[in-house]
Order: sequence, then C-alpha cells, then structure tokens
Amino acid sequence: MAETETRARTGTTTTRTAVRLEAVTKDFGTVRAVDAVDLTVREGEFFSLLGPSGSGKTTLLRLVAGFEQPTAGRIELAGDDVTATPPNRRDAHTVFQDYALFPHMSVEQNVAYALTVRGVRKAERLARAREALTTVRLDGFADRRPAELSGGQRQRVALARALVDRPAVLLLDEPLGALDLALRQEMQTELKELQRTTGITFLLVTHDQDEALTMSDRIAVVRDGRVEQTGPPVEVYERPATAFVAGFVGTTNLLRGEAAVRVVGRPGTFSIRPERILLTDPAEPPAEPPAEPPAEPLPGGRRAVTGRITDIVHAGAHTRFTIALPHGDRLTVLRQNLDGLPQSARLDGEIGLSWDEKDAFPVPS
Ligand code: ADP
Ligand code: MG
Repeated sequence: MAETETRARTGTTTTRTAVRLEAVTKDFGTVRAVDAVDLTVREGEFFSLLGPSGSGKTTLLRLVAGFEQPTAGRIELAGDDVTATPPNRRDAHTVFQDYALFPHMSVEQNVAYALTVRGVRKAERLARAREALTTVRLDGFADRRPAELSGGQRQRVALARALVDRPAVLLLDEPLGALDLALRQEMQTELKELQRTTGITFLLVTHDQDEALTMSDRIAVVRDGRVEQTGPPVEVYERPATAFVAGFVGTTNLLRGEAAVRVVGRPGTFSIRPERILLTDPAEPPAEPPAEPPAEPLPGGRRAVTGRITDIVHAGAHTRFTIALPHGDRLTVLRQNLDGLPQSARLDGEIGLSWDEKDAFPVPS
C-alpha cells in the first residue's frame, strides 16, 4: 500500500522541481567556492552532489538551506524564489555531518525540537516524535540521551529530527561519514528506503562514489565549484562526460596521446573500465591479436594486447591486477574472485588482455 502510494507520488511528480539553482556563485573573499552552478532537483528525487573534498559541496547545500547567501544567482524551492528567505522559513531541513544533537536533551526532545519551536502542542509533538522514531527504527529509545547511543543510532536520531515536520526537502551533508563501513552500507540501504517511503526529496552531499552510485536517482559530479556532469548513476559511470568524472567515479584506465594510439588503436582520450578487461593465457590468444595497432578500429570486434603482471591485490570479492604493456603503458584489471583465471595470472606472468572495442570509449579531456 505505502509502496504503491510512493511510486504513484514519485511517478507523477518527476517533472516538478523541488530545488533549482540558477547561475549560483558563492565567493568567500578571494575563494570562489561555487562557480555559476545551474542545477535542478526534481520532486521526490534522491539526488547526490558527488565531488572531492573542497569542491564546494557543503557550500552548495548551505546555500540551498539558507545558511549562506549567494554572491550571485537565484535559488528556488518548489518554484518559489527563496534567495533572500531565511533558513527557518525554507521548507528544507539539514542533517549535519556531526549530527548536531542537543546532548542535554532526550532523544524524544531532540526529535520534537522543531515542533517545540513552532509551538505545536505537547500531545501532538510527542505523537509525531514517536512516529518519526518509528520511521527510523528507534522505538524504545525515546528517553535516552545522545551519549547513550551508538554512532548509527545517533545518525538515526538526527534523521528523525529532520523528518519530524515532514519538510519538502531533506539536505544531508556526508551523513554516513562518521560510520564504519558495515554500518555505512546498512544505512545506505535504509536511507534509500526512507526516501522511497516518505517521498521526500533528498539532496545528499558525499565524496564517496559508492554511496552516490548506490543510493541516487541522479548524481551531479562537482569539481572546483562547478558541475561537470549530471545524470543517473549508470550514465555517469558508463558514459563519463569528462576525464575527471571517469577518474573520480569508479576507477578507470585513462589512455591519452601515444598510449591511446598504442593501446586503443586510435588518437584521443579513452576510458576502459578495469572490470571490462578479460585476462587470457597468451598461449591461447583471442580471435584477433593485432601485432601492430590498426589505424582504424576493428568494427564490432575485440581488441587484444599482451602484457606482464606487475601487481596483484586481493581485495575481498575481487582481485586487482596491474599489467605493464610493452611500451610502458599500464592497465588495471579487476576480476571477480569467482571467475576462473588463466594459469598465467600470477605475479610476473605474461598475460593476454582483451576487451570489446566499445568498452574503450572516448572522453573529452
Ligand atoms: P566540500 O564540502 O566539497 O569539501 P566546501 O563547500 O566546504 O567543499 O568548500 C569549498 C571551498 O570553499 C573550499 O576551498 C573551502 O576552503 C572554501 N570555504 C568554504 N567555506 C568557507 C568559509 N566560511 N570561509 C572561507 N572559505 C570557505
Ligand atoms: Mg563538505
């Protein structure tokens, strides 16, 4: 029932805009933290701002929340110009990286805080605080103090507090940054679930590409205060618009200049994802091993080269190989550990590599 309702809601609202930034710039003195950013987040969307530290993500979020004023540009929430509207009059709440819970208040008081400020009467306040705590699976924790909770539980209290008066938009700044890996992965699933069941628009900031790829409907990749690419995770991963995006979202083999001509067989800048490269014994070469790179790509075919394994890293579910090619070019290859590997897949072994020509795709540099 709730499922159908949510789907209906997101289904009908994808064309409506929850957050819009138009040519937004923010300078701190001589530092341009945000540089003429245009961005549209649709209603009911899980949208992530992904970028390295210092790229301007937090500043973007604070501009949407109203904690910062833009140097130039315009900010809209649900179609209304809120550029000059103070934070408490914007229909958006923030979950801060450090949770910012009140240590002297109980969990319930923390969660009910926004309602207290707004003068909601006590019975309703408590009912809605309990409801919010149920939403984040913290029934029975109402009377504890933040100090009596684990990191993951504190994170949930912060979420409940932000959700209690059902904002149109939830702003989350690296909300899982303080959690260990196992808990972070668990909370990724929970956050996504929470977003789907509440239908609230989530705008999340992260430097963690796994997090962005796992949870988001769409991602904006941010670099130096600018948006390099916006799109669904699959698109950003499979078809990065720039070399920076290709390198930042997932690992990749970037081949430019001479290396591109040698390895890919034509000039330009190319990205080959490590998991797209197959390893074979050089004794049993794949269909078309060209001795010299052809000037033109083989249409629809595979490309094959030979190299020597210089490094092997076992990383849990997969193994990462570094392979040196004859002219000093290097390729990273990722194989799942359940795949059968050729005999020669050992350190210093000569190995054959092959990939589909379409997996070496051009990226603007
Ligand atoms: P991110 O969240 O992606 O790590 P930030 O938005 O925090 O990036 O910062 C972007 C840039 O703006 C950085 O160069 C940072 O030093 C600068 N910056 C952020 N906030 C301030 C501030 N209040 N005063 C001066 N510089 C700031
Ligand atoms: Mg930040």
